[in-house]
Amino acid sequence: MSTDNNSGIAARWKGRTNLLGLERSELEAFFASLGEKPFRARQVMKWIYQAGEDDFHRMTDLSKALRDKLNDVAEIRAPKIMTRQVSVDGTRKWLFGTDEQNGIETVFIPERKRGTLCISSQVGCVLDCTFCSTAQQGINRNLSAAEIVGQVWLANRELGCTPKTGRAITNVVFMGMGEPLANYRNVLAALRILRDDLAYGLSKRKVTISTSGLVPMLDKMIDEEEFALAISLHAPNDALRSQLMPINDRYPIAELLAACRRYIEAGEMRQKHIYVEYVMLAGVNDKPEHALELANLLRSLPCKVNLIPFNSFPGTTFKRSSKEDIDRFQEILISKGIITITRRTRGEDIDAACGQLAGKVVNRSRKRAAILEQRVGTQT
Ligand code: SAH
Repeated sequence: MSTDNNSGIAARWKGRTNLLGLERSELEAFFASLGEKPFRARQVMKWIYQAGEDDFHRMTDLSKALRDKLNDVAEIRAPKIMTRQVSVDGTRKWLFGTDEQNGIETVFIPERKRGTLCISSQVGCVLDCTFCSTAQQGINRNLSAAEIVGQVWLANRELGCTPKTGRAITNVVFMGMGEPLANYRNVLAALRILRDDLAYGLSKRKVTISTSGLVPMLDKMIDEEEFALAISLHAPNDALRSQLMPINDRYPIAELLAACRRYIEAGEMRQKHIYVEYVMLAGVNDKPEHALELANLLRSLPCKVNLIPFNSFPGTTFKRSSKEDIDRFQEILISKGIITITRRTRGEDIDAACGQLAGKVVNRSRKRAAILEQRVGTQT
């Protein structure tokens, strides 16, 4: 397995089919087009994801003729590693180049019993939440399935994970740059690969989609795949939420929570609760009356609340709530019977914490509405 992905592979292999990011059915169709049996797709899938291999010549259970053929017509190409940073707390952040001008950030958060990879779904973000650094970057484009799943593939290699050493990444969360449901098709493909036993085999509880609440896409996703759901609520009423998150004008709280109920009720096998994320902004949404209003709003919704202390970034006027205010807010929710935890801030010294990811984005924000419209309106 080669470890350097920065060798201008993209230019050299232009025109070949990138097998990274193809779902099992697509990979089988690709092998069928070469006149090969479906089990070849399954073999190659294991090589790509479980062995982290990108060189067909090393896929030793394929015939020499097939390896040569694959080398001619296909490639396994992830984004390029641009920079690596390691926090004092062990959190790692990578900047992965997605094309000549743009890059996305991916964060690995090691904990005692698990390792969480926080991945991006867009170059920038189509939304404009006022308290988020990514939103300030604007939007360039959606990531392809290869670029989404490629973050996991690259991180595994960077962390030195092989089938022998075992996995460092036990959980994947779509909480990096971007709004995953605004890139529905490619996020769904990536989700299927993350869940596929021939790839990463992650159970539904181990893959979390975090969304600001694009209700129609959320409903579609619920019909298609299983995953853990986190919603970014951040305010207990529409007036405040619309100020913080303009998307609320389009999908107000009642509609979003109704979609969350549909998710919870969708079937036996589903998660029995959702996660509600709530960023703690000093003097804005952190008062006891907000906590009471939130408790009332969530009263009958099976959920766990994650309070996220605000993480600062250049140019913002928001401030993090004090520890006392966060504790008081948490106590009120708990006293009302709502399971609530305060998320520990990780990787702050390398700007890897929630809402701090900026990447490298050539802003095309004027296209924001068009990208959002297209995703919400016409994707199948
Ligand atoms: N677009 C998705 C993923 C966003 S990032 C979503 O909206 O859910 C994951 C979480 O970090 C979201 O809840 C987001 O609102 C939160 N976040 C954004 N900026 C933040 C900041 N500066 N400090 C703390 N959390 C932030």
